[in-house]
Amino acid sequence: MVVGLGRSGVSAARLLLGRGAEVIANDAAPRERLSAEARALEGEGARLVTGGHDEGLFAGAELVVVSPGVPPFPALDAFERGGGEVIGELELASRWLSAPIALIGGTNGKSTTTELTGAMLGRAGKKTFVGGNLGTPLVEAIGAGFDALVVEISSYQAERVSTLHARVHALLNITDDHLDRHGTFEAYADAKGKPFTLMTADDVAVIPYGDAIVARQAARGGARVVTFSGTDARADVTVEGDDLVDRTSGARVPLASLRLRGAHNVANACASVAVAAAMGAAPGAIAEALASFEGLPHRTVLVAEIAGVRFYDDSKGTNVGASVAALSGLGEPKAVLIAGGRDKQGDYAPLVDALRARGRAVVLIGEAAERIEAAVQGAVPVARATSMGDAVLRAQGLAQPGDAVLLSPACSSFDMFRDYKDRGDAFVREVRALAGGHDA
Ligand code: ADP
Repeated sequence: MVVGLGRSGVSAARLLLGRGAEVIANDAAPRERLSAEARALEGEGARLVTGGHDEGLFAGAELVVVSPGVPPFPALDAFERGGGEVIGELELASRWLSAPIALIGGTNGKSTTTELTGAMLGRAGKKTFVGGNLGTPLVEAIGAGFDALVVEISSYQAERVSTLHARVHALLNITDDHLDRHGTFEAYADAKGKPFTLMTADDVAVIPYGDAIVARQAARGGARVVTFSGTDARADVTVEGDDLVDRTSGARVPLASLRLRGAHNVANACASVAVAAAMGAAPGAIAEALASFEGLPHRTVLVAEIAGVRFYDDSKGTNVGASVAALSGLGEPKAVLIAGGRDKQGDYAPLVDALRARGRAVVLIGEAAERIEAAVQGAVPVARATSMGDAVLRAQGLAQPGDAVLLSPACSSFDMFRDYKDRGDAFVREVRALAGGHDA
């Protein structure tokens, strides 16, 4: 039984049909809201059940594959309590894959680190799959003859592994996010750390130097630990003077060759180096990939400079930890932060220190504006805006030459936009319109 018929659910159902299983494909949404691919499963031999998760469906199920976007529901809980096996799509896929797997998890920085690591292994001449939580479902890697699999893993997928063996697992950071689903911070951390429990001494855990919360997760299994840090020279992979150095392999890359922006991205680069080296990439290939990797859209991207103020799109900053990192990591000494959106019930307090240190002012949008304002009041001047256009104008008015304006909302976007891309695109449009009226 496959529950949740998004892209990975459809892929999982197809895999199982192809292996001769009887498949019930189930989604809470009504049939007309499903994709054409999901509806087509019926013609491929699945029994399609839509509009709810009826308890009776689970009665004969031997295995349930649940998609990461599906929140827990009573019939699933009851099935699991009764001893039924419930797994995620990554776990399912791993049962048919033999190439070494590098998992990249963490609250923030996963996509950037996954893509960069994939680029390093590709340069090293390995036929490399890059996907998972971002992009292509891992199931689609089956049978394609990959030498290495670099897989972004979310907390929802991590808590649903039971045999998946990672050769390397990087857990980049754990800060508040998705508490609406995981309940407590401890439960969220334990979900993220589950893949470590399946690793042994031949495997490598890549973790941030000096982070006790992540270290406790890594210690749940037997993997050898390699630490990274963009700032602390005691880490195995770190920054020394003007170079990024990997003490495990002796590799050294001038920081000046990196195209990624922000101190948080230096940390991501260090983590990628650690993973790629553990997966067998040579130092030369690692250095080449570092020097050519441009970063991903909507992650601390410079959009324009207007009258001495640089505007950055970090729309993917969808939780407090991300926005704190983006703000603190900027090259400019001060920034006007544009934040707000759909509230995830996290704690905004960490933003206060970052704003005191680096904030010129904050411009708030969306549903969370009130809660954020209450938290940051007194730290920096606060303005409210009613639209992205309004926010960009107000931010420009508050910024001084030499400052940055940073869109990094610390919230999801669904109150005002389709998704973080739509929100980032709106910001870019408004900034470009503003730039058009200026001599840059
Ligand atoms: P993810 O896939 O985990 O969401 P991304 O690479 O897409 O990660 O980055 C999302 C956002 O997280 C970025 O826009 C930035 O605000 C923040 N971020 C990136 N790397 C880090 C990091 N190492 N630590 C904290 N925040 C980060």
